[in-house]
Amino acid sequence: MTTSDELMMPIDPQWAEIREGVRAICAQFPNEYWMKLDAASEYPTEFVQALTDGGYLGCLIPEEYGGSGLPLSAGCAVLETIHEMGCNAAACHAQMYTMGTVLKHGSEEQKRKYLPDIASGKLRLQAFGVTEPTTGSDTTQLKTKAEKRGNKYIVNGQKVWTSRVLHSDLMLLLARTTPVDQVKRRTDGLSVFLVDLREAKGRGVEIKKIDAMINHNTCEVFFDNLEVPPDALIGEVGKGFRYILSSMNAERLLISSECLGDAKYFIRRATEYANERVVFGNPIGKNQGVQFPIARAYAELMAAELVVRRGAALFEAGRDCGSEANIGKMLAADAAWKAGEACLQTFGGFGYAREYGIERKWREARLYQTAPISTNMVLAFVGQNVLGMPRSY
Ligand SMILES: Cc1cc2nc3c(=O)[nH]c(=O)nc-3n(C[C@H](O)[C@H](O)[C@H](O)COP(=O)(O)OP(=O)(O)OC[C@H]3O[C@@H](n4cnc5c(N)ncnc54)[C@H](O)[C@@H]3O)c2cc1C
Repeated sequence: MTTSDELMMPIDPQWAEIREGVRAICAQFPNEYWMKLDAASEYPTEFVQALTDGGYLGCLIPEEYGGSGLPLSAGCAVLETIHEMGCNAAACHAQMYTMGTVLKHGSEEQKRKYLPDIASGKLRLQAFGVTEPTTGSDTTQLKTKAEKRGNKYIVNGQKVWTSRVLHSDLMLLLARTTPVDQVKRRTDGLSVFLVDLREAKGRGVEIKKIDAMINHNTCEVFFDNLEVPPDALIGEVGKGFRYILSSMNAERLLISSECLGDAKYFIRRATEYANERVVFGNPIGKNQGVQFPIARAYAELMAAELVVRRGAALFEAGRDCGSEANIGKMLAADAAWKAGEACLQTFGGFGYAREYGIERKWREARLYQTAPISTNMVLAFVGQNVLGMPRSY
């Protein structure tokens, strides 16, 4: 029989020390902590600080820029463990993948200027401005413009669902620098800027918090003639879409790891409760109607974990991992959602009581069907890019 402790273990003990360290931090932030923040829609400042102090948020930043220089799977282990413990990494996961764009495409000067402070936690790069209200998943059609005027870029437009922007010093912004009707391919003419929010807020940037189903600190951002210095441009002008795309696989694998963690959390909680809760004179887990959905969720978790692990291994070997990153994201999100459903059902009425933490995690796990990429977009990627069927859009 698999014990609850074994369930908490990854398939192999990769990054066991990191997992141990992250677990010890998470143990200091129980459900009551998250419940209070959720009710007040507040940011988990102390939790993020504890992870920063432990050096976990800078784990992917190379040593020469002040981080630990660990491979992607170490970041995956950090995020998975946070979720497996019932906590949520959404408040701080973004710098692990947005940092990759600066690292891969930024100038040496930009890397030296920002990465050491990001690694130490002095600077927060947690905001990623891609999605817009009128264009959604159709990223190349985004309307936010950055026009070169003299020695500056002037940014006008709007982003939506820009998470953590109120708790970030820097934002990675994707904006159009050449109108779409003047480029050969619609993916051309978009550029990435590292916007210093400390200077921008109130001087061309206005932020409005969105009242959302989960406590994700997500906002609308309005740009009104924001002046951005030319040294905020990352890499070459017009190549931003490719830069963002090149960091997507890492993002997908990191987020998939959070889903794996969620699935483990739900399965552990459901199994414990199914064994403990006695109704009609028997533990409810004795009933196959209760037991099988949990067993099925566990089987699906194992399958998803293999794909995600394979994706991370390919990524680390410098090989193409687009299929694994996308498919892994979908399978892991589905595994988390099914495990969440099984868990909520197992808890019966108590699943709805906030103090048990299940309903909060259930709401949070639903997000991954939509963000950072919706399931349909993953299926479109597989249909078109992996299987070679025609494009629908
Ligand atoms: C809590 C939260 C946090 C987020 N954080 C960020 C962030 O920090 N930064 C950021 O840039 N974005 C963020 N997002 C945005 C997120 O990435 C988008 O919501 C997501 O990519 C989907 O885009 P959309 O909401 O505009 O949906 P749409 O693009 O409007 O799509 C709506 C639905 O239609 C489907 N659909 C659309 N076109 C097709 C098609 N051709 N074929 C099949 N189905 C299709 C989609 O799959 C989806 O289910 C966040 C979203 C949420 C909810």
